[in-house]
Amino acid sequence: MQGLMMNQPLSVIELLRFAAEIHGSAEIVSVRTEGDLHRETYTQAFARTAQLAHGLRALGVGPGDRVATLAWNGHRHFELYYAISGMGAVCHTINPRLSAEQMVYIITHAEDRVLCLDLTFVPLIEALAEQLPDNLTFVLMTDRAHMPDTPLDLLCYEELLDGQPESYDWPVLPEDTAMGLCYTSGTTGNPKGALFSHRSTVLHALFMSVTLPRSLHEGARILPVVPMFHVNSWGLPYGAPLVGASLIMPGPKLDGASLFDLMESEQVTASWGVPTVWLGLREEIAKRDAVPSKLDQLAIGGSAAPRSMIEFYETRGVDVCHAWGMTEMSPIGTQGQLPVPMQSLPFDARMAAKSKQGRMFGVDLKIVDEDGARLPHDGEAIGELFVRGNGIVSGYFNNPEATGAAIDAEGWFGTGDVASIDKNGFLYIQDRAKDLIKSGGEWISSIDLENVAMAHPGVANCAVIAIPHQKWDERPLLIAVPAGEARPSLEDIHAVMEGHFARWQFPDGLELVDELPLTATGKVSKLTLRQRFADYRWADAG
Ligand code: ADP
Repeated sequence: MQGLMMNQPLSVIELLRFAAEIHGSAEIVSVRTEGDLHRETYTQAFARTAQLAHGLRALGVGPGDRVATLAWNGHRHFELYYAISGMGAVCHTINPRLSAEQMVYIITHAEDRVLCLDLTFVPLIEALAEQLPDNLTFVLMTDRAHMPDTPLDLLCYEELLDGQPESYDWPVLPEDTAMGLCYTSGTTGNPKGALFSHRSTVLHALFMSVTLPRSLHEGARILPVVPMFHVNSWGLPYGAPLVGASLIMPGPKLDGASLFDLMESEQVTASWGVPTVWLGLREEIAKRDAVPSKLDQLAIGGSAAPRSMIEFYETRGVDVCHAWGMTEMSPIGTQGQLPVPMQSLPFDARMAAKSKQGRMFGVDLKIVDEDGARLPHDGEAIGELFVRGNGIVSGYFNNPEATGAAIDAEGWFGTGDVASIDKNGFLYIQDRAKDLIKSGGEWISSIDLENVAMAHPGVANCAVIAIPHQKWDERPLLIAVPAGEARPSLEDIHAVMEGHFARWQFPDGLELVDELPLTATGKVSKLTLRQRFADYRWADAG
């Protein structure tokens, strides 16, 4: 028997309409590329979004058209998100840290019609212009006074809005209509497009705001360090208006000192980003011997948060929520906020639980062995991780080959991660399948080794990669950035690993480097490290 309830299509513009009416005084504060600090309320943002939609329509943007953005976190980027999706077009966020070749590839693959860019990226587009499609219209996200001298034919964002009506007849769209396009960073081959729908984005916003109330609640002031070009800032531009939280947009300055100052001056209560960012803030906190005064929660994801980092913040009164996800999952797949009975566990047990990646309503998880048979959720069995849910891709945009490789016979998406799941349903990511180290027929988790090595005071950051070994197949090499003047030895590292691992799992080599290469999404690039250490040889087995 069918229920007798209305079926109103879910639509992202309704999130902003609601915020404009109900949370009208919550604000978007933006450090702009022009150098100033800009403030607008959700009510003002909704009006400007309507003006922008009129402006885009005047440019010929219609339903299904891809409009690309190349921009930092800021109010104009936020307005673009809503105007583009709200009018039935697709907002394609481009990661400026992609290689020139990849950027040209995705703009061409997405068939973008318009590209909206921040001032910072004018030189980048000038250099690429020859390789970009002829029919691409450029909009510079600034006002007339800041339009630069450039050979590019640029329209001015603020002029697109000028004089346009402050309301728009937002179309009612089927909820499966595409609204956002984000390409993976393509560490293995060409980037692949995740095409989000209104339905998936609204549901993801609801799931995250229900499961992450410590960050997302009315009156909260959230600083998304995670860029709007990295999977929609992990959904914050949708979740924050929904609950009435303000967004503090940091623009391009993401170093520890700038973040600390902005957190303090804007009374930031929560901030989300990848571990490398929190290393920078940690240094600043240590230097000033103070924590931003209102900072209550950090959400850390994108790569594994080392336990030493979690403990650093937790012992200073900042709650850490360890989250896991990927572009293909909108992106949040699990989050590690502890359930109430676990919150009173002793410190050590709590930190161990927080080092896991958690769980989330709306995302089903399964782990399977090499033959695809399901493994138990007992905290012991380790297998390849598959996911299913309303915020997860069913395929890649215009890419049947990649789709076929990613979706299994039961319709689940293969994450490429290897994990265990405990009896509480907590996910524990062991590694990316391609980063695991196979030694003598046994697996060693590079993440586990990194986690423990990071606890050595002489290690500021590190990564472990597999180096081929004649006898053992592969052996772990630790590549570390020393902290300050420290010069830890391999023996020092082994000493902190004692008790955590069997001896055969210890890294066999240590290389000290000045810094680690990062991917376009700010994670340590093991691909680059593998290339850099391709000629590395073990002394014993050649
Ligand atoms: P890309 O694949 O382009 O790096 P994503 O941001 O989608 O971009 O990366 C997703 C991957 O990042 C996951 O499959 C996983 O390997 C890793 N990851 C994300 N969060 C965590 C986490 N908390 N712990 C361990 N690995 C993580």
